[in-house]
Amino acid sequence: MNKEVRTRFAPSPTGFMHLGGLRTALYNYLYAKKMGGKFILRIEDTDQERFVEGATEVIYDTLKGCGMNWDEGPDVGGPCGPYIQSERKDLYLPYAKQLVESGHAYYCFCTKEELDERRAACEAKGEVFKYDKHCLHLTKEEIQQKLDAGVPYVIRQNAPTEGETSYHDVVFGDMTFPNDTLDDMVLIKQDGMPTYNFANVIDDHLMGITHVMRGLEYLSSTPKYNLLYEAFGWDVPEYVHLTTVMRDATHKLSKRDGDAYYSDYIEKGYLTEALINYLVLVGWNPGDDREFFTMDELVEAFSIERLSKSPGIFDVDKLTWFNTEYIRQLPAEKYLELVTPWFDKVLAGKNIDYARLAQLMQTRTEVFNRVPDMVRFLGELPAYEIDLFTNKKSKTNPEVSKAALEMLRPVIANIPEWTEVCIHDVLMAAIAEAGMKNATALWPLRIAISGQASTPGGAIEIAWLLGREETLRRMDDAISRLS
Ligand code: GLU
Repeated sequence: MNKEVRTRFAPSPTGFMHLGGLRTALYNYLYAKKMGGKFILRIEDTDQERFVEGATEVIYDTLKGCGMNWDEGPDVGGPCGPYIQSERKDLYLPYAKQLVESGHAYYCFCTKEELDERRAACEAKGEVFKYDKHCLHLTKEEIQQKLDAGVPYVIRQNAPTEGETSYHDVVFGDMTFPNDTLDDMVLIKQDGMPTYNFANVIDDHLMGITHVMRGLEYLSSTPKYNLLYEAFGWDVPEYVHLTTVMRDATHKLSKRDGDAYYSDYIEKGYLTEALINYLVLVGWNPGDDREFFTMDELVEAFSIERLSKSPGIFDVDKLTWFNTEYIRQLPAEKYLELVTPWFDKVLAGKNIDYARLAQLMQTRTEVFNRVPDMVRFLGELPAYEIDLFTNKKSKTNPEVSKAALEMLRPVIANIPEWTEVCIHDVLMAAIAEAGMKNATALWPLRIAISGQASTPGGAIEIAWLLGREETLRRMDDAISRLS
């Protein structure tokens, strides 16, 4: 029987969820679910200098908000806990000592100053500095003396200097690295904490991780991890390294451009479902031309064989297209609920019927943060140019427009019932009676009451939303400007 698939998402709590990280989480989640396995959340916080208050909550909230629930993790527990590395602190040193015993690791007492000096000397000769195994050559007695005297130390891996190390990556195939490129990386730091480089191996083993899916930046250090697995006599997991999520062919998504984090998009008014749907496709394809997936459908369709080897370009226009489609599909009440705070930014207290406005806006909404600019005119008539009244198709110019507005004004003032149907019927009758084309009358009306050529809904819907009084006020304003 095959082993149960166990994947893990192992973020460092930085306070933000990078889209690349979120995609890594998704792939891990989808694969575990697809295979009927377990998805594990592990918090990698051994870099205490980088501690950020509330950062773990950002991870929990984002994953939950995206519908990725973990089977084992810090809050839900599980058989391999604790799942926060700092809480596992005492567990790593014995493993490192075991490697010291077997000759795969050694104590290093070099100070930062000494290392800097040797690095500078090396760079002066144009060479790349790699730890020179200085402390590997200390005698047992020298080491004991220093330990007894409390000299601060780190524990380093004793990497081979000859030969090569190979492994298989599901995405990138067979990888081979000459061992002389491997440095003697630090396993245990001076403060007793393990480095990521050590902890990931120990934890992935102890947590029974079968598939390690993570960012490409770990591709070239994986041989060093495999040497550790080998030294312990442990099975190496399957490796699935994922390409970087890029803004375009040459730029990564960056914090500075405000396009790197999940929260950047949510704040702009992208829907989580749209973002997830699109993000999964940046670096994976289903093998057919389907584009829309629910989470369950993704679980069904996902396969690690279809992960891409080339960098994924995160195209915001494409995301926006997905978002528009997802917004269209929302139930009307849900759309209203989501759009209300965006209406409020420009219409709060303006007595506009949000439910009707929402109906007019839903199919026109690409991203929620574009909504306020589209509806602002309802709250306040924008400054507009008289030229707007000139429209070839409607056969209007300022003069024709003035006549139309003067004709419509008393009609509107006397509409018996302020409903869209009634406004429509009365206006149509009056326009026909005046012998005008509909557009010749309705174009000037729309400009007069909205101050813009393009609006959600036409003149009648806008008039209804504004109310009779405001409609007449805006018409009067236009008539006097056209006089
Ligand atoms: N803590 C590492 C990171 O955030 C995790 C890498 C891994 O998945 O092994 O980059």
